[in-house]
Amino acid sequence: MNKCEMDDFNTPWDKLEEECGVVGVYAPGKKDIARTVYFGLHALQHRGQESAGIASNMDGKIQYYKEMGLVQEVFNDEIISRLQGNVSIGHVRYSTTGESYVANAMPLVVYHKAGSIALAHNGNLVNAKEIRDELQDNGVIFQTSIDSEVIASLIAKHSRKDTMENAIIETTKQIKGSYALVITYGESLIGVRDPHGLRPLCIGRTEEGFVLASESCAFSVLDATFVRDVEPGEMVIIENGELRSIKYNSSCQMSVCAFEYVYFSRPDSVIDGKNVYISRRDAGKILARECPADADLVIAVPDSGTVAAIGYAQESGIPFGEGLIKNRYVGRTFIQPDQRMRELSVRLKLNVLAENVKGKRIVMIDDSIVRGTTSGKIVQMLKDAGAKEVHIRVSSPPVVHSCYFGIDTPNRRYLVAANHTIEEIAEMNGADSLGYLSVDGLIESIGLESNQICKACFNGNYPIEVPEESDKLKFEKE
Ligand code: AMP
Repeated sequence: MNKCEMDDFNTPWDKLEEECGVVGVYAPGKKDIARTVYFGLHALQHRGQESAGIASNMDGKIQYYKEMGLVQEVFNDEIISRLQGNVSIGHVRYSTTGESYVANAMPLVVYHKAGSIALAHNGNLVNAKEIRDELQDNGVIFQTSIDSEVIASLIAKHSRKDTMENAIIETTKQIKGSYALVITYGESLIGVRDPHGLRPLCIGRTEEGFVLASESCAFSVLDATFVRDVEPGEMVIIENGELRSIKYNSSCQMSVCAFEYVYFSRPDSVIDGKNVYISRRDAGKILARECPADADLVIAVPDSGTVAAIGYAQESGIPFGEGLIKNRYVGRTFIQPDQRMRELSVRLKLNVLAENVKGKRIVMIDDSIVRGTTSGKIVQMLKDAGAKEVHIRVSSPPVVHSCYFGIDTPNRRYLVAANHTIEEIAEMNGADSLGYLSVDGLIESIGLESNQICKACFNGNYPIEVPEESDKLKFEKE
């Protein structure tokens, strides 16, 4: 282990924001389902580009492989064929800079008295530090700096005295935060969704058995038909060819993350009964009604703003056209470690189609403004290419609070809308006008009841109490 990795181990670990995707395949008659999981991870690659891993379980014996990189960089034919098993789980992960090393990749595989467990987690615990401190005081050692290891450790601890099922239920009583978990041990595949259902998890049926995945967009490559979402506070146990359900928490209040619909999920997914594409298109339509613009052309910041831009164009009657061309081989703007790199990467990623924007009044649609780095750069590029006016329209409300449940947003200090008025942001971006979707408009576009959606990044109403300290630590790290 090099020095840098040592330092990372010593940083406060309870503030890590992770964006992840999980998948699980149960197919009793087969041995080579790691390949299916591999395809599933490809479909979920947008949920995390930093590391990927697969753990395969053959009659309780678990083999795994995980590495830093994209799914296609991490795995090859030889590695996949070594991962024999009839239950297999996979994980893709992205975390904020600094915590990037392979020990933190998932699935986590732990060995305890009753056997091996492999676990993949999407979400973020807010009380992981307390639990970890307590476990460490009692001599438990940790090999990673991720909160998911706290979950694995608690399950192992409880399973000494109880069945694995009860051990998982006991664990859910202690952990607070967001979690969509896929777990395998013995001959079973388990899925657990936190009592608020903050992160998505759904169930599919295949000819050979069942699959679990963060998003239903993975089902076509998994050759599965959608059955239903795992409910908030529900654990599903797939074994002996059947699926059983345990409602482990009776006082759940669904609060699915609005940002899944705004930005994070793929548009071809359906989450908690609501189609992401339709919600984005409707967000664009409502935005057109709430914040009209006198313009000649609607363009999107690709790809995140595309669907909303289509909706905006449909509703406003202003034609939709391409104004920005995306280089698909450049990674996420967000993952760049410092501001200078973030700014350069906007130009690496996007180029203006001058022929389409020259002399025109442009409405530019993006799904969100977070730090405010991206939009200003793009406005400048459009104006340099001859756009007469640029009106920014954002298909989500101003992001004014940090997320503690698995979406990578910086500390409030860095959230442009937390520190500036809309007029100021428009001016900072060099835009002729700026308009955001309202919170009510966002709720309407998703189509769930308001109290079924977590909107904390927009209004500060966290469904679970968030520790003050995390906010401070988060800032210190940045
Ligand atoms: P900025 O305002 O410069 O921080 O970045 C806003 C851009 O980042 C928008 O185009 C969004 O689509 C995208 N974005 C928003 N949230 C995230 C996130 N959690 N991870 C990566 N990109 C994001």
